[in-house]
Amino acid sequence: MISKNYFQNAGLGSILDKVISGERLSIDDGLALYDCPDLNALGALASIKRRAMHGDKTFYVINRHINYTNICVNGCLFCAYAREHGEEGSFQLSREQILDKLKNAPVAPREVHVVGGCHHDIPLKFFEETFAEIKKELPQAVIKSFTAVEIDHLATTEGISSVEVLKRLQAVGVEMMPGGGAEIFDSEVRHRICPKKIDAENWLRIHGEAHELGYTTNCTMLFGHIESAAHRVDHLDRLRRQQDKSGGFNCFIPLPFLTENSRLKIEEPLTGVDELRTTAVSRLMLDNIPHIKAYWVMLGVKQAQAALHFGADDFDGTVVEEKIGHMAGASSDQALTRTELEEMIRGCGFTPVERDAKFNEI
Ligand code: SF4
Repeated sequence: MISKNYFQNAGLGSILDKVISGERLSIDDGLALYDCPDLNALGALASIKRRAMHGDKTFYVINRHINYTNICVNGCLFCAYAREHGEEGSFQLSREQILDKLKNAPVAPREVHVVGGCHHDIPLKFFEETFAEIKKELPQAVIKSFTAVEIDHLATTEGISSVEVLKRLQAVGVEMMPGGGAEIFDSEVRHRICPKKIDAENWLRIHGEAHELGYTTNCTMLFGHIESAAHRVDHLDRLRRQQDKSGGFNCFIPLPFLTENSRLKIEEPLTGVDELRTTAVSRLMLDNIPHIKAYWVMLGVKQAQAALHFGADDFDGTVVEEKIGHMAGASSDQALTRTELEEMIRGCGFTPVERDAKFNEI
């Protein structure tokens, strides 16, 4: 048991009191956490919160990612994944290719995670028919599909509302939305790195609509580019305020910006320390979002293991094939097996717990 003095010496005494009593941390508290020079104390504080919520459990899921196209009309400055129509390296999967990938998964997935670019002419009907086929093929799998950005894009191209898109997808078996596209909510930063993307208000609105319809959704933050600590804390605060209103966020994923293949050049690349610090701050600020993910695809497996000691409680899953992070420069493997995931979690002192897409234990 770490003494209170330890946290007081690190300047975290009053925040420790709030964490123990369950009081919400303020924006100033969030900034103080970013300023704290004692990374170990910050990790210990986030671990108090994480263990109070989940004990020593660390969750993982047998899942399969499908990236159906990288053709995208948005051209976000930071994105190393997207290509223009006809550009070298662009791809678009047919329904048969999508279904083949699922049929050939090494183990039947419990979660099918489908995201891609905002393609100029794939109609909503294509996805409705594809998802209906997936459900027929894999009735036990939860389909987690389309970021709020893709939902908005489909609504625009179809000339219908985002609620109507969500309802039509729900009717063919989609139950969850991934959390991508949030990037950083601050309007100035957003305008510089992804000017064509929906703004924060619309991203949050679409998640609120999905929650209202019964979807479970995730949320993210892309950090380590041109944003400040204040922008990150503001982002986390907006997420928890949306959660107060609509309550459907299940998991937050802090996504480190990978510089290698990006057009967005930055002076000071993100450090491993900052990745761990942001994981810890996220756990402490997001008091009403149950899970924090250590996304091994973007962090790398070893840093994801370390993140479990900085507030993360979920290790994502088998993934099998992932293009977005890897085209950005991720050097992690494409897939992990159940045995590997369990060994990695046990190896850092936690108990692996297999879950389904909605965090029900299996
Ligand atoms: S981040 Fe998403 S919306 Fe932006 S260019 Fe890349 S694929 Fe398109």
